[in-house]
Amino acid sequence: MSFFDNPIDPPKLTNGWINNETNHGSGIEIPIFYPATGQQVSVLVEDTGDDVDKAVMSARQTFDKSNWSKLSTEKRIEILEDCRQIILDNADELARLECLATGLILREIKGFHIQRAAYNFRFFAQYISQAHGERFDNTEGYLTLVNREPAGVVGLIAPWNAPLALATMKIAAAIAFGNCAVLKPSEQTPFSLSKLVSLLKDILPPGVLNLINGRGSVTGSQLVAHPGIDRISFTGGTVTGRQVMMEAGKQLTPCTMELGGKSANIIFASADYERALDGALIGIYSNNGQQCLAGSRILVEDRIFDKFVNSFIERTKNITVGDPLKNETEIGPIASKQHMERILSFANTAEKDGDEILVGGKKASDHKNGYFIEPTAVLAKSNNSKTCQEEIFGPFASFLSFKSEEEAINLANDTEFGLVSYVWSDHMPTIMKVSNAMRSGVVWINTPMMRELRAPFGGFGNSGVGREGGYSCEQFYTEEKTVSIPKSPLTLKGFGR
Ligand code: NAD
Repeated sequence: MSFFDNPIDPPKLTNGWINNETNHGSGIEIPIFYPATGQQVSVLVEDTGDDVDKAVMSARQTFDKSNWSKLSTEKRIEILEDCRQIILDNADELARLECLATGLILREIKGFHIQRAAYNFRFFAQYISQAHGERFDNTEGYLTLVNREPAGVVGLIAPWNAPLALATMKIAAAIAFGNCAVLKPSEQTPFSLSKLVSLLKDILPPGVLNLINGRGSVTGSQLVAHPGIDRISFTGGTVTGRQVMMEAGKQLTPCTMELGGKSANIIFASADYERALDGALIGIYSNNGQQCLAGSRILVEDRIFDKFVNSFIERTKNITVGDPLKNETEIGPIASKQHMERILSFANTAEKDGDEILVGGKKASDHKNGYFIEPTAVLAKSNNSKTCQEEIFGPFASFLSFKSEEEAINLANDTEFGLVSYVWSDHMPTIMKVSNAMRSGVVWINTPMMRELRAPFGGFGNSGVGREGGYSCEQFYTEEKTVSIPKSPLTLKGFGR
């Protein structure tokens, strides 16, 4: 069966969720399209002013007035495990809704995104079972305790490229540390998260998790500006992140910013050739090429450059682009028409800028109405090319060659971003030297995209502020409180005795 012949029944209207009840927004209607066919499949009702206020106040009320933030760790672990289970029990429907809005490949959604979404809840259940405070006993006569208390009401803003996997990290962390949340999915991809919140309402008390829909410039910015918000966790583009942080700064609301990237995939002649080739292809073409951690600048040592690029082109020509429902599909559609046109505009200007298109660069012609493009690679004129400096966020790689470790390091770090780097070599001194020199939050050696959730994930430079991960989330979603207690009754010499 294929969406091309038999589309899934999408929700006719996608509403928000406030206080565990559906909320019919008061704003405009936004059409939602299935990227594989370009057909409009649903309508999203935007939440504005009063809706946003109602969602924040519902979370505020639950946080301030109920026992939610004071639940025992045992109870919270049970709740998190129930959230995991309900995702697994509804995996098929969630996966199809995710596919319908994003165009991600159903096989990958089921194999990775759903599993990650479920695991995020288990991960934080396990994490809080080990979490503990600090105790200092070295100031004479005093015992000092450091408690971590829930931060309060958190605003969670998610992008469209992997809604379930990314937003559940935020939701699970917020809940695990006793917060209440207002989630705003991307206005392009609301289905799976709306369904998830409708499922979680059977587990979570009213007000703990609310969902509002709408454009970032309207619903998103109203959420950030709301005085009832204690934290903003944002994943999205760098330009938007800057705006969100400026708005949040007016109220000194702490933020984490998981932003864009233009990551270097550095391939040395000393690497296992086939493994590095696979790694380079996975690095740029996974998730339909739309991922922050894409290895979009492929830097190859000059001794193997021509051979490597030719192998890459050959493999790229073999990629099956098409129906995201089919098992054999390797790259599905781009998530929106506007984004497809933006990606293609890089191919149009690349040649003018002196880059050479090696493969792709056009709309995939046999899928007329869907947002399909040919996987693309260019030989960049230099690292100053637009294709090397701007985040394209699609199946679009730029190749550059280097002669020495120093040159590879300089090229890799010559970017405003610093999210991840990939290094491929079997020579330990090279691995150590280059990985230590990377100005990025994560370095992957001889592997693509390994994520250990206990470890921090986030970027240097314009790729972000703060980190996500076990301890990083604990710090972000809690407030620290220091309590000092005299060990025996004190005799105080107060004023005016
Ligand atoms: P985006 O910045 O356009 O939107 C992200 C979210 O922010 C959406 O929900 C949007 O509605 C909202 N938003 C937009 N303007 C806002 C405003 N003024 N105030 C509040 N909210 C606002 O990003 P996108 O196009 O949805 O996602 C792609 C970007 O996300 C890429 O740059 C990608 O690299 C980045 N990303 C980063 C990570 C990471 O972990 N670092 C992960 C995934 C995606």
